[in-house]
Amino acid sequence: MKEHCGVLAIYSMASRPVAERIVKGLAALQHRGQESWGIAVPGEPILKGLGLIGQGADANAKKILSFTSDRGIGHVRYSTRGRTTLENAHPLDIRGEFAIAQNGTIANTEDLESVVEKEFPILGSTTDTCALTALQADFVRDIQPGELVSLSKDGLKITRFADSPRHYHCPFEYTYFGHPSSKIDDHYVYDARRKLGRVLARKYPFKADVVIPVPDSARPAALGYSEESGIPMEEGLMKDRYRRKGSLRSFIEPTAKSREEIVREIITIKPVVDGKDVIVVDDSIVRGTSSRNIVQSLREAGAKKVYMVVTFPPIRHPCYMGIDFPTREELLANKADGQTLNIADLNKKVASEIGVDGLGYNDINGLSEGIGLGKDEMCFACVTGEYLGLKKDPVLRTREEMKA
Ligand code: SF4
Repeated sequence: MKEHCGVLAIYSMASRPVAERIVKGLAALQHRGQESWGIAVPGEPILKGLGLIGQGADANAKKILSFTSDRGIGHVRYSTRGRTTLENAHPLDIRGEFAIAQNGTIANTEDLESVVEKEFPILGSTTDTCALTALQADFVRDIQPGELVSLSKDGLKITRFADSPRHYHCPFEYTYFGHPSSKIDDHYVYDARRKLGRVLARKYPFKADVVIPVPDSARPAALGYSEESGIPMEEGLMKDRYRRKGSLRSFIEPTAKSREEIVREIITIKPVVDGKDVIVVDDSIVRGTSSRNIVQSLREAGAKKVYMVVTFPPIRHPCYMGIDFPTREELLANKADGQTLNIADLNKKVASEIGVDGLGYNDINGLSEGIGLGKDEMCFACVTGEYLGLKKDPVLRTREEMKA
């Protein structure tokens, strides 16, 4: 199997057609994947397209409205493995018998054929519930590790198929990937980001005139930093929503070129930063390209000093669980200083790489405090290089191999 992202399933107990509601739910999950979309209902060929669900649904409106099935699944894709092609879009047709839509990366595909019947670990349970809100559906509860949930006319059936002693929640869901309105395992993403901003303000009390977020995911964190520090928050960077790529998210675009195109369409608001010392709040630094471009544009707009604080700790290792962090060689924290775990030294090195006057990465304790989950409930593999949730060391692949 390849690739992953936003998934949705609807079963109508009142035997009403569900395809239109799947489209609405997928639109609410668009932040989880922008590369392709797909809808599968029984008795119809799987409908898929490249790009955004809104454009695809408009072009296929007649067909979607003709689907009468009272059950179906949908998917929006953000690839961690495999190319952006229609063939790789989900749902996948399994020999015409059933369809699968998946979110996550199966890291040990090489081993699975021989062990799948004995062991099939699920690394964590994550529900980006904003699709439920869009559909005015009730949230009942999260799916626990090792659970299989079936929907039928008899309602929900829960089957435990594997023992899973602990969660490995991905903190990146809270800092970047999840929608701010989502509640993941009893913790609201918005609240987590705001508290993370407060944590950073205590760790890194930079003196400045204004706090600005990198749009859009860092907004609640910038608010938290502003509240804790007393420094006013303003919108000094805006996405140009009137251009083709203005509303897209840069990190989940599949190529460096497309990511840079999106960052270029972030506009600096000169009167907010001109002649001022500025604290920029961002969710993460991966390759550093976006950060460098943003800092340069702030300086061109007249910012005097530019500081940056980052809600996610230094990313030094690739993710093999579903987030498209590149190979170790491409990661800025690894390139700047792959060996030391001393954040103070790393802050200085990365600050000079991206051109800021001061930098403050969060650390694992701060991440745990801000999100409100214990360190033993989360995965930190991309920070520590310890792939505990996989129960084995991953095969390190090149970017070309990951996308083949
Ligand atoms: S390696 Fe990092 S991005 Fe991947 S699941 Fe773990 S914490 Fe999340």
